[in-house]
Amino acid sequence: MKYKLFLFSFIIFSCGVDDSEDNLVNNDQVSVTKDSSTENSTTNDTSTNNSQSSVISTYLGTNCKEVSYSSKPDADYVDGNYSYYTYGWQSDGTDQNSCVNAYNGVTTFGVDLVNAVLSDAKEKLGQIVPVNAWIFHTQESDIETICTDYSPFTDDSSCFDLQQMAAATVTQYVLHNGGEFKLSEIFWSDEDQNGSGYKVAYHEFFHVHQNSHKFYFEETENFGINMTQFRNVDDNEGVNLVGPVWLEEGGAEFAGVWYSSLKGWVNYNEYWINYLDEARSVISDAASRGDTVSLRDYETRYSIQRVESSENPTGTSREFAYAYSGGGLAHIYLISKGFTDLNNSMIEYYRNIAELEREHIGEGYIYAFEEYFGMPLDSFYSEFDDFMLKTREEQLSILGLE
Ligand SMILES: [Zn+2]
Repeated sequence: MKYKLFLFSFIIFSCGVDDSEDNLVNNDQVSVTKDSSTENSTTNDTSTNNSQSSVISTYLGTNCKEVSYSSKPDADYVDGNYSYYTYGWQSDGTDQNSCVNAYNGVTTFGVDLVNAVLSDAKEKLGQIVPVNAWIFHTQESDIETICTDYSPFTDDSSCFDLQQMAAATVTQYVLHNGGEFKLSEIFWSDEDQNGSGYKVAYHEFFHVHQNSHKFYFEETENFGINMTQFRNVDDNEGVNLVGPVWLEEGGAEFAGVWYSSLKGWVNYNEYWINYLDEARSVISDAASRGDTVSLRDYETRYSIQRVESSENPTGTSREFAYAYSGGGLAHIYLISKGFTDLNNSMIEYYRNIAELEREHIGEGYIYAFEEYFGMPLDSFYSEFDDFMLKTREEQLSILGLE
């Protein structure tokens, strides 16, 4: 029993909070680690300065462990703050590629787990960018070998530390090389871990899904990057293009559990009943200090930091990870009540986010939420906060988790 509780607390913290990349610190009381996408924002940003690029970028094809472009390609055209790109992998069909790059210490089970998830997720959610998955063992893999392969995929030739992590992202800096996915042994080394490794891998793929669509315009079949707005969001501590953190992480967690349960990898009800209890505990623990929890507090990594640290006005951090537990339950609530459904919440919201953002800069997610989750975001916050104060029995009944 103790082991299981540990596993749950571990898995729920398996993602840090940020634009898309989940970082896991090797420690079960994880605090949010630094946002790698924001760190990148201080590095070279060539997209708005195409005229200065002196190196001609060539599409090299899309193969495992090899970058698709020799350098960042120039935009096809610029319109306002957007630079638009079509990539070679769109026309040769390799946007559907998933490479599972495994290193020393990775078991066959680990490779099979990732392959099974990537394959099922592509079928259920679609895939519009090639994905390189980096699977490693923190003790047995050779960091130099990994970095030699991995660094060319970054915009600044950086690498990462071999720590326990589950992470996935698509960034504006290296969109031309597709999406990336990282998974260390804690998620696949124990074959009896009750399917949680599959769920985590699915959660990570969902971040690739979310963050690839935030750039993609279906009608023109190209990708648009608004670097000015990315900087505005960073400067003003605003909500990310894909939406509030609770929606990004809660959506990924909901998808991870839901689609894994369809495959028989995890028990959906067991997961969400546990998450409900965790979310209730966040609320009652905070209430004991006069700290009122709202889902709205979990919109950005900055607002989360303000409640999940000693910056909290009460001086005491809330219990962790309501963005995941509450955010996931928010999806179930809206689906159970009939405001949205799987297709709208898992697919259409993301397919339309780039278009709605272009029409309403900085507020695309507000319009997308109202359209695809079925009610205005502001109204939802008050309705969901009220729901979370109902009795456990009422909640289980409304969520269909009995
Ligand atoms: Zn995540």
